Amino acid sequence: MRKKIIITGGLGYIGTELCKIYSGVSWHHHIIVLDNRFISERVNQIRNWNMEFIHGDILDKDLVNKYFKNADVVHHLAGVTSVPRTKSESSKEQDDKIKLVAEEGTQNILNAISNECKLIFPSTHVVYEGISEVRKDIKEDEATQPVLSYSSSKAANEKQLRDSGKNYVILRLGSVYGYSNDTMRIDIMPNLFSKIASQNGTLKLFAAGRQIKSMVPLVDVARCFKFIEESDHIKSELFNITKDTLTVKEVAQICKKHNPKIQLRETNDEIPNLGFSLSNKKILKTGFKFLYNIDQNIKEMIDKWSKQNLIKDLEHVRDGENIFVDRRGKISNHELTEPINLIGLIDSKRGTIRANHYHPQQEQKCLFTKGQIIEIFQDLINPEAPKVTQVVNAGQLSVIKPNVAHTMVFTKDTTFLNLVRGERDHENYGITHTVKHVFVDEKEKNLLLSCYKFNCRSCGNTDLKRVVSLGYQPLANNLLNKQNDKCELYPLEVNYCENCHNCQLSVSVDPKKMFSNYLYTSSTSRVFREHFIKASKKYIKDLKLNKKKSYIIDIGSNDGVALKPFLDQGFKKILGIEPAKNLAKLANKNKIKTFNGFLDNKNIKKIRKGADLILASNVFAHSDKLQEMAECMLKLLNKRGTIIIEVQYLMNTLKDLTFDNIYHEHYNYWSLTSLNNFFKKFDSTIFRAEKVDTHGGSIRVYIKKDKKTKIENSVKQILKEEEKFGIKKFETYKKFGERVYKVRENVRKNIEKLKKNSKTIVGYGAPAKATTALNFFGISKEIDFIVEDNKLKHNKFIPGVKIPIKEKSQIKNKKNTIVVLAWNFYKDIIENNSELSENFINIKDLESNNL
Ligand SMILES: [Zn+2]
Repeated sequence: MRKKIIITGGLGYIGTELCKIYSGVSWHHHIIVLDNRFISERVNQIRNWNMEFIHGDILDKDLVNKYFKNADVVHHLAGVTSVPRTKSESSKEQDDKIKLVAEEGTQNILNAISNECKLIFPSTHVVYEGISEVRKDIKEDEATQPVLSYSSSKAANEKQLRDSGKNYVILRLGSVYGYSNDTMRIDIMPNLFSKIASQNGTLKLFAAGRQIKSMVPLVDVARCFKFIEESDHIKSELFNITKDTLTVKEVAQICKKHNPKIQLRETNDEIPNLGFSLSNKKILKTGFKFLYNIDQNIKEMIDKWSKQNLIKDLEHVRDGENIFVDRRGKISNHELTEPINLIGLIDSKRGTIRANHYHPQQEQKCLFTKGQIIEIFQDLINPEAPKVTQVVNAGQLSVIKPNVAHTMVFTKDTTFLNLVRGERDHENYGITHTVKHVFVDEKEKNLLLSCYKFNCRSCGNTDLKRVVSLGYQPLANNLLNKQNDKCELYPLEVNYCENCHNCQLSVSVDPKKMFSNYLYTSSTSRVFREHFIKASKKYIKDLKLNKKKSYIIDIGSNDGVALKPFLDQGFKKILGIEPAKNLAKLANKNKIKTFNGFLDNKNIKKIRKGADLILASNVFAHSDKLQEMAECMLKLLNKRGTIIIEVQYLMNTLKDLTFDNIYHEHYNYWSLTSLNNFFKKFDSTIFRAEKVDTHGGSIRVYIKKDKKTKIENSVKQILKEEEKFGIKKFETYKKFGERVYKVRENVRKNIEKLKKNSKTIVGYGAPAKATTALNFFGISKEIDFIVEDNKLKHNKFIPGVKIPIKEKSQIKNKKNTIVVLAWNFYKDIIENNSELSENFINIKDLESNNL
């Protein structure tokens, strides 16, 4: 039968829950919700549920007559909600109002409805508040003993209904509790306790919490109203509706179970009445079943209220929660914190671009159901903010804060849902919702499509997480010949692979652009020369190398700096492999036999095999094709030979914040953990590991072509150290990223201070790390020029920031401040250049908060 059902007070605590339940049948019945409040969100919700909302008061007789006269069912929930709990809180004015709404309002309804209409009415256990001794399982026929205005009015209503001759059902509710959006109901004991527990607070238990209370979950109360409505045979009855009777202390203990951080504090005061409980036998006999329990409800409230999603990120990408996979496929959930009233379904073709805009007020939420994008975004409130990119895959939700410009480049045919609160119209572009802001053009889109990396270079995993973005940057070693020469900018950011723990760049720039003409000659540095002399002596001794027989290859041999010590000690069979033409030529001129080219499958045919020792210092980071390089190295090695790799150590980068080690030539950032995972895949073993101090901290590993090689303690110990540090946790990397951004803020502040006190600031040294740091900091005009020891760099310019590089003789005034950019040679530089200036500052010192 189609019924006309009216819910009074439908926006309240129980009413909201009841409407939710009726939304399931609102297509079948005619449902009217009446409330004297108007909460637009909830009203909107009710209307979307196909229910009629009437903004009105039950004291309005005409209105009640109009709507109630042919109603089949009335859930009469309306009443004054803020009621005094003690005598001292009471006032005559408030008491009169409670009485008026309760009695006159109810009478209006009784007068309007027919004799067939079922009126379901909530009363309360509080009608027994006058009972002075402890009483358990009070039955429905026990005489009421109201004291305060609220219980008095409820008792009066009960009588009114009984005497009306109409079809009524009274539900005497225990203390109703449970999660709801209605903040008015925080003062109910289990709700209050859960709220305090969600904030790790202290629960005060008066009289040691011995008072008992009959309680009932909100959802079961709403269910019971509907159950009574559907049970046509239940007429002119009164039921107690309670589920659990617990002491206050027992409720507190449930809270403590779900959040052990809270404190329970008992007081010893006596209270006059330890409470009473109602029997629920009668309602259970009708067949009604309670489905919820206090334990679940308290857990739900604590969970929902303790979620402190203070996300400071301008954007973030979320994987779904509660992921469920079976042979049919996958389910994952994304909980949103705000209501969504519009969903855009957007299909995009591979290779196209969308957005190039920002939202002044709204958070952008896009749920990707198919395909993949490169997302580009930039904070518009902070004008110096770097431009950041990242990959978003199918199944992920991308959330971008307001006033952050964003663009999507589609790398596959893609479908996503745009989830919006508020209008989203193509017509109102440029007004409140969406403002155009083109910051990625076609050329940049093509560049991203050509160089972006979607898989881990070491293990192939496709789900990489961003560690830090240093914005778009030029190629660090490609100095400009003229100040206004054009240079390409590429995203410079590091991603982390949760599978093999390798850190790596998000893009791969064509190596020919970086390594074919290399200006960095290792032998320029005394420190490096000494490092390789020492290393050669160690290797000759440890590996028992033979001057006449041993064949030694150095990969990425530069100008021969690592092989020269072997040559000097009489070794005959040495070979360098170096892709930079100018460096290979220089090495060959100096009698260090060098093959000009990359070590790859094509070139390996031209290289003699059977090496006893293969060195690869500071090149393993430089390889985009790791697998191929490792395979080639192993092919060149003889059976008993050793590979020694020296590479910048990620642990130092993370600990010392040496983010300026990050540049496009360094594709990979290694820990022993990730190196070990990598080499395990080949038939080889890292059997020894050492930390060395070049490049601000490096790691040296020894590899044999035999899986059975005994692994020395040094390997086990460093692996353990790394694990303890958190090398396998994304959180470690995320924190590093946050600290790097703090450094940027400090440097910008400090360089401004410095510029005020010193007219001219000169930089010392133009290594690649200076390009990274200066571009990331956004320092250009603040530094007048840079001096360099390496003649090849003179009269060139740092790309991006365009600072000129000059000879030292250009420094004419000792009052100038010299900022040492090649900070790893700081001591050397100030010792050898005291005649240049009275003020040397290490760029690293500008990174701290207090200069
Ligand atoms: Zn990986």
